[in-house]
Amino acid sequence: MEEDLTTDLLVLQSHLDAMLERVHSNNTTLRRFQLFERGLLDLNSLAEMVEYVLNAQDFFDLDYIGFCLIDAKDELKKFLQEDGFELKENPQLIFLDDNEALQATFGGSNSPYLGKFKSPKCARFFAVNSQPPESVAIIPLVRRGQCLGALSMGSLMAARFTDTMATDFIEHMTSVVSVCLENHLNYEMMKRTSLIDTLTGVNNRRFLEQRLGEEIDRVQRSSEPLSCFFLDVDFFKQVNDTYGHQAGDQVLVAVANVIREQLRSNDVLARYGGEEFVALLVNIDEAMALDIAERIRKKIKALVIETQNEVVSVTISIGSSTYKPAKRSALSSAEIGADLIHKADEALYKAKNSGRDKVISAGVISDHLALANLFKQI
Ligand code: GH3
Ligand code: MG
Ligand code: MG
Repeated sequence: MEEDLTTDLLVLQSHLDAMLERVHSNNTTLRRFQLFERGLLDLNSLAEMVEYVLNAQDFFDLDYIGFCLIDAKDELKKFLQEDGFELKENPQLIFLDDNEALQATFGGSNSPYLGKFKSPKCARFFAVNSQPPESVAIIPLVRRGQCLGALSMGSLMAARFTDTMATDFIEHMTSVVSVCLENHLNYEMMKRTSLIDTLTGVNNRRFLEQRLGEEIDRVQRSSEPLSCFFLDVDFFKQVNDTYGHQAGDQVLVAVANVIREQLRSNDVLARYGGEEFVALLVNIDEAMALDIAERIRKKIKALVIETQNEVVSVTISIGSSTYKPAKRSALSSAEIGADLIHKADEALYKAKNSGRDKVISAGVISDHLALANLFKQI
């Protein structure tokens, strides 16, 4: 009797131990998933996300990982390359032309496939070189009914992924991965089609290029002068080198704000590139333009930018040019616009060469001069 009880107790104890071990193991898995998801939410770009997901191989102790993206127009490839991501060095990042391969694997259900590695059905979701995985989890990444890609994990252990296994952790993680992926894809598209510079909030170069011709057309109709500034922060590289890139970004935001404050609401201000801005001032002649440019220069010089650890000051050089429309023009508005910017840029170059923190005017260009200049450039 006593012996029976002891045996029962031992059996119970061993059940309890096994359960506790499972709880402990589940806790560890849960923590790992949570850590992974937290890191995922901190990322800033598609390139960072791809790198992070591919590193999940070590994070989850997997033998294989594959991150498939549907990229019918080769846009994502281009975005990633532009951001310096090396496609050749990351064969685990797989691009699919459409979701046919995914449909063939998941059907219309979009539920994950867990189980034996079946070739060739599973092979397209991995960059397998020699020994294929024994078991895999291939999970479609779906948002708003649209399949964006798939996350595939492989193990050399047959028991790692089985069709009877609970998938709650995996499903939760893939919904987070799907949301993040959708956000990054939207952001990348917006960044490339937007007309606003995301750092400073002023217009970007694409906007300027679209507006320039329209502004020339407008002043030709109204016979008003149009002035153009090319503005470039002096020794900006040193700001980055001394205070860091983040402080440099704060300086750019502050500089853009000062320039914007000195312009009227119908003037155009655009970030032309790194630390360069272009402004178009409607109905402003050369003398007025020089006054405004001087005001901007002085305001920037007086600006005290408080970054996280330091107080930073900068100066700016400005080249100015003014277009005076003729009655009949031999040039297209695009040609006149290009010449206006070119002249302001030349004046900026002179301002840089004569000591910086200066405003220099290229004077007035009219249509016949613009034509002559254009021939000089050819
Ligand atoms: P100069 O007086 O001749 O204009 O010298 P500079 O140092 O301002 O000019 P340079 O063209 O040598 O350097 C421009 C620097 O601007 C280099 C680049 O790293 C930095 N830059 C470009 N875009 C950004 C940005 O978005 N943020 C930050 N922080 N730096 C940027
Ligand atoms: Mg500069
Ligand atoms: Mg520059």
